[in-house]
Amino acid sequence: MYVPDPKRYDSMQYRRSGRSGILLPAISLGLWHNFGGVDNFENARAMLRRAFDLGITHFDLANNYGPPYGSAEENFGQILKKDFLPYRDELVISTKAGWDMWPGPYGNLGSRKYILASLDQSLKRMGLPYVDIFYHHRPDPDTPMEESLGALDTAVRSGRAIYAGISAYNAQQTAEAIKIMRSLGTPLLIHQPKYSMLVRDPEQGLLDVLGSEGVGCIVFSPLAQGLLSDRYLQGIPSDSRAARDFFLKKTDIDEKKVSMLRALNGVAQQRGQSFAEMAVAWVLRDPRVTSALVGTSKVSQVDDNVAALKNLKFSAEELKKIDEILAGKQSAA
Ligand code: NDP
Repeated sequence: MYVPDPKRYDSMQYRRSGRSGILLPAISLGLWHNFGGVDNFENARAMLRRAFDLGITHFDLANNYGPPYGSAEENFGQILKKDFLPYRDELVISTKAGWDMWPGPYGNLGSRKYILASLDQSLKRMGLPYVDIFYHHRPDPDTPMEESLGALDTAVRSGRAIYAGISAYNAQQTAEAIKIMRSLGTPLLIHQPKYSMLVRDPEQGLLDVLGSEGVGCIVFSPLAQGLLSDRYLQGIPSDSRAARDFFLKKTDIDEKKVSMLRALNGVAQQRGQSFAEMAVAWVLRDPRVTSALVGTSKVSQVDDNVAALKNLKFSAEELKKIDEILAGKQSAA
């Protein structure tokens, strides 16, 4: 029987999601990769247990995480039943709908029909009566925003979700979504954008909108899928995401990129952190970022990412150096 560490709340930091009542762990765990039907179930279970033992109370899913689609939710449901059900009220579990899930015109994008049917399927797979956060996974240019967001409002009002979130909406769409959700009476809790040293888009207005409107921000792929770690400094390991050459391509890792990664690794070393720790700390340096949503393939990576919290402060000089390296103005010493 799994008995969680009684000290699990001693060192994790919790941050308020915007101006809401909910606190999220500064580091959350996502189940996009390594939790599917093709993956090692006991490894997935061990990573979730270790995460919870370290105070990670938030697990993030989506309808189509796997592969195959749906299988991460199924596995999570099983692990929940075996290990976490007594602790359900200590957990924030999220899922999403918005990308391709089932064939035909009702299994993708942003119709009310798709979003609500998908949520029902997700709940069934996980064996849950409700999720804590339900997201529209991406904006659908062909569906009125009122319809997609109205479906989130229904999800909350019907008790199938506690809070509503959006992902991948740009700054302008987000400002609009915030207004619509407020008018519906279900304020938007959180936005989930991609953000890392290598992907800076949220700095072009989105973080400002979220900050001023009091909406939380949980950033995904803070390690740029593993690029911002020691994983690729000496080639492409056979057990890495890039070796699978699908979501992270081998061609993304050329000599120029590796030289930049080595230079960033040098900054991390000077800070007394691993490269992954620095990448996580870097997104959390901004107080508008509620949580860094990491993925992991091994228990040791959960530990390493949480260790980032030991040093979240960057000097102006360090930030400048990082920016210069990213702009290609400095390389490895
Ligand atoms: P990361 O940028 O954290 O990348 C995770 C990968 O980085 C791991 O699988 C591992 O790669 C490597 N890694 C993690 N920690 C370490 C470490 N300490 N040292 C060395 N390597 C490390 O995030 P993901 O891209 O996995 O995304 C995280 C979550 O964000 C997803 O699970 C999902 O919940 C969410 N997400 C949301 C999206 C959206 O559209 N809203 C889209 C994408 C993700 P390896 O496997 O090679 O070991």
